[in-house]
Amino acid sequence: MIFGFGKKRDVDDDDEDEDEEEEVDLVNFQGATNGKSADLAANARLVQAALLPTREMVTEALERRAEVLRLDVKGEKGQVALSVDGMPYAGSRMSKQQATAVTQMMKVLAGLDAKLKGKHQIGGVKAEFQEIKYELTTDVAPQPDGTERLTIRIRNMKHKLDTPQDLGFSDATRAQIRELTSRRHGLIIVAGPAGSGVTTTLFAVVRGIDVYLYSIYTMMEPGTRELINVKVFQPNEGDDIETTIMRMMREEADVVVAKPIRDADTTKQLLNLADRICIMGEVAAKDAASGICQVAEWSEDRQKASEVIDAAYSQKLIRLLCTSCREAFRPNPKLLEKVGLPPETKTLYRKGEPLVDEKTGEEDPPCEKCNGTGYFGRMAMLEVIIVSDAIRKMIAEGATADQIKATARSEGCLTFHKDGLRLVAEGKTSLEELQRVFKA
Ligand SMILES: [Zn+2]
Repeated sequence: MIFGFGKKRDVDDDDEDEDEEEEVDLVNFQGATNGKSADLAANARLVQAALLPTREMVTEALERRAEVLRLDVKGEKGQVALSVDGMPYAGSRMSKQQATAVTQMMKVLAGLDAKLKGKHQIGGVKAEFQEIKYELTTDVAPQPDGTERLTIRIRNMKHKLDTPQDLGFSDATRAQIRELTSRRHGLIIVAGPAGSGVTTTLFAVVRGIDVYLYSIYTMMEPGTRELINVKVFQPNEGDDIETTIMRMMREEADVVVAKPIRDADTTKQLLNLADRICIMGEVAAKDAASGICQVAEWSEDRQKASEVIDAAYSQKLIRLLCTSCREAFRPNPKLLEKVGLPPETKTLYRKGEPLVDEKTGEEDPPCEKCNGTGYFGRMAMLEVIIVSDAIRKMIAEGATADQIKATARSEGCLTFHKDGLRLVAEGKTSLEELQRVFKA
C-alpha cells in the first residue's frame, strides 16, 4: 500500500497491513501543482523503493525550515544541501542509487516526465506537514557528468514574507506609502539585486496601499501571492506598455504595477504617463539611490525623471535571533558609540551558544527551536528615499547614487543602516548578523 499519499496519514489506521509502526510525522504529498495526477501505479517499483526516503528527505528540510533543498550526486554518494534563512547547511547523505531514485520520485510527484533525462524540467508538488501547506517547486537539471541535480524550492503557504507586516515595515513607512499613492501620479521605484526578493518587496509596497480607496492594476503576475482588490490586467497582444497603461487609465485605475523597468524604452514610456497616474515598478539595482540613478540614466531626460520619480524603496533580508536561545548582554559604551546606537541602550542580544557541561566537557543538545543555528526566520531591512525638492535638483543635475543617499540620510530618510540598528536595538537581530548582511 502507499501510505501518506493524497490523504492525511492516520496513525490509528486498523487496516494497516504493514506491522511497522510509523512513529515520526512525515510530509504528505498532495499532487502536482500543474494539476497532473502522479501516475503511481505505472511507477510501482519506484514508489516502493523511493517514496519513503523522499518523504524523509523533504521532512528533514521542512523541519529545519529550509527554503531550498538541493540533492547532488558526487561520486558514489548523494548529498543534500539545505538553505535555511539564506544560509547553507549540509543535509543527509545517501547512496548514489538512492539519490537517483529520489530524484525520479520527485519527477513523478511533480508531474514531470520521469523517463526524460538530460533535459531541464521544472514542476511543482503540493505538500502538507504538521498542518501547514507547502508548495515545492521541483527543478531537475542535467549535470555535465551525466547525473541530475534536484533542486526543491520550498514555499511555506502559512508563513510567507508577503505583507508589510510580515516584512516588518513600520507604521511610519506604511503611512508614507499611503501618502505617496494619494498623490495619484508619480513613479515609485522598488530596487534590489536580481533574486533578492525585490518582487516580494514590490508587492508588499502595493499591499501598503489602501485597496479600498484606490483601484490598483498590475501587469506583473503576482504568482501565488494573494492580493485583495488588485486587478491582474492582461495586455492585448502587440500593445506596448504605454498603450496598455492608457487602457487601464480608461478603466479608472489609480495605481499601476508595471513590468520590471529594464531599459530606456520602458523607462521613457513609464515617465510619459507617470505625471497622470501613480506607477510602481521594480529595477535591478543594488539600493534605492542606485535605482533612482539607473532610471534617470535610462530616461535620457534627467529633468523629466527628476520631476516624476517620487520615491524609491529597497530591502535586504536579515535573520532574526531565535527567541528561545538568544543571550542578552550589556553593551559597553565604546561598542555603542562605534556602531551608532544611543548611549542609554541597556541590553542587546546575541546568538545563543550551547552550554558546555563543566565536568564532562560535553555540549548540551542544541536549541530545539532553531537547531542550534541561533536564528529563526527573517525580516526585511528597508531603505526608503522620498524624493524631496533638493533630491529632485540633484537628479536633474546628474548626481551620483552616493550623493543622493547622503542627502536622503541628512533629510531623515530611512536607510538600511538605520533600520538595521532599530532591529538590533529591539533585540530582534544581532550586531554580528547586521555586519554579515552588509558584507554580503
Ligand atoms: Zn534557538
